[in-house]
Amino acid sequence: MDLGGSYISAALCQAKFFRHGGLVMQIRPDSISSKREFNAKGEISPQCVEAYFDAFDGCRALSPLTYDAHLLHHGKFITLRASIQVSLELCCHRCGRSFVRDFSTDVDLKLFEASSVGGVEEIVLSEEDLDTVTYQGDVIDLDNILLESIYLEFDGDCMCSPDCKGICTQCGQNLNLGTCSCPKNLEFV
Ligand SMILES: [Zn+2]
Ligand SMILES: [Zn+2]
Repeated sequence: MDLGGSYISAALCQAKFFRHGGLVMQIRPDSISSKREFNAKGEISPQCVEAYFDAFDGCRALSPLTYDAHLLHHGKFITLRASIQVSLELCCHRCGRSFVRDFSTDVDLKLFEASSVGGVEEIVLSEEDLDTVTYQGDVIDLDNILLESIYLEFDGDCMCSPDCKGICTQCGQNLNLGTCSCPKNLEFV
């Protein structure tokens, strides 16, 4: 049965209820064709997105994460190309103000079954292959892979703008909005 090229169907994947009330998209690797791309189009609920990003204080998902993913089997690995969009409200690490960022990103990944490559660590630490992801057993957790991709987009750079001036540690003035009269060398965190 070759269903490559069609949108993902219930027969080819498992969707189960997540603890945050959304659905999780999981794909069986053996359902992916080597001849025609397998398309999976869908969305991840704002609740699931927020649960994934709960390490970032004040993160709110203003939209579902929508994706259009294409998978193709190459024998030893599966390629995943996807475009992802989500709108997040984040809290600036430097000045503490909320800001909205619309993420729109493309991912291009190679998925390897973990046991086929001698363990997860070996793959994760391979520097030439930063675009490599492993999956365990007979399930590809598409949601998790896509959420991780967005996470990496802003990890360590959660600022309202690249030149955010932060707040004055003495008087609390948001230096993006105006200056204060505190001694200059003490202004930055
Ligand atoms: Zn800021
Ligand atoms: Zn000040």
